[in-house]
Amino acid sequence: MRSFVHATNPNRVVFGYGTSAQVRQEVERLGRARALVLGSPPLAALGDRVHEALESLAVARFDGAAMHTPVEVTEQAMELVGEHSVDCVVAVGGGSTTGLAKALAWRTGIDQIILPTTYAGSEVTPVLGETAQGTKMTRSDAAILPETVVYDVEFTLDLPVAMSVTSGINAMAHAVEALYSQQTNPVVDGWALESIRLMGRALPAIAADPADVDARAEALHAAWLAGTCLGLVGMGLHHKLCHTLGGSFDLPHADTHTVVLPYAMAYNAPAAPEVMRRIAEALGTDDAPAGVHDLISSLGGPTSLHQLGMAEQDLGTAAESATAKSYPNPREVTTEGVAALLREAWAGNRPA
Ligand code: NAD
Repeated sequence: MRSFVHATNPNRVVFGYGTSAQVRQEVERLGRARALVLGSPPLAALGDRVHEALESLAVARFDGAAMHTPVEVTEQAMELVGEHSVDCVVAVGGGSTTGLAKALAWRTGIDQIILPTTYAGSEVTPVLGETAQGTKMTRSDAAILPETVVYDVEFTLDLPVAMSVTSGINAMAHAVEALYSQQTNPVVDGWALESIRLMGRALPAIAADPADVDARAEALHAAWLAGTCLGLVGMGLHHKLCHTLGGSFDLPHADTHTVVLPYAMAYNAPAAPEVMRRIAEALGTDDAPAGVHDLISSLGGPTSLHQLGMAEQDLGTAAESATAKSYPNPREVTTEGVAALLREAWAGNRPA
């Protein structure tokens, strides 16, 4: 018998195809009437769609969201919030745009409506990572959690296959680490396993046909579940290591998660055999870490830190900074152990 505590995050989720058309009613539902539309230049066309759907409720537009939520960018957007008496943000994009929405909400208390276009999952977590003078700080607070998420499968159809794979594995990493988190419970376990099963099935279908609406819907559903797990329980070695690699060595977020996941799983496997068995079952494979590695390589995803441009001589420093502070993880985290993990990940060897 397991004893547990479970608390859900209070957010509203609208899921479907063409749901972006409902964004005006979602803003009204929150009692808001002055929206700042947030986006980025590559996704300007989707931003335009949302802007039009909001009609007179869109009072300002900011297409400057950037990776790692730099505070200088947030300050620029803050000027628009003041100038236009904005009472909510409507964000269209991946984790970077969601990060900007969260940064504005954290500073002002305004409501957030998020339309995610990747599988990062940030839209359902109360966590904000911001960069100031090159340092990324993370905080968690109920005020950061977006009020409403509008998942529109149509908005993900153009996510390139390579980004779909890395973003999908980023989501899978949230689900994997939730399963061996100290705070997990049977509800979170169920969501995490369902997420892994759906994503493991959706990604090959998306690689075969990026416009496969059913596969896109499964991937987005999996991303939502994985993000929900990330927002409810603490993460372990994999997320800490990716945070260090991304922050200190400027490696791309989703690609880093994709390369590291099989190795972090292999490191933790001896201490979490039942979790690995359940993941392998969800993926229809014999061995979870090798199965994830094989899935990534069959989809043409990155499998080595070397491929991401990391210098071999930086591995030791990375191992030291990733182990400078202790944190919960199923297997004891040692500098030597993480250095060995990183050597394998740098070379891209299939986990044994
Ligand atoms: P991203 O938002 O930076 O997007 C990556 C690239 O994909 C961008 O160039 C973007 O323009 C493009 N893109 C996004 N959607 C597209 C689409 N549908 N079609 C075509 N191109 C598209 O990357 P991300 O991986 O979604 O998010 C990464 C950021 O999110 C990181 O800063 C990470 O720390 C943060 N994050 C935070 C949390 C949290 O809970 N706080 C969770 C996950 C990620």
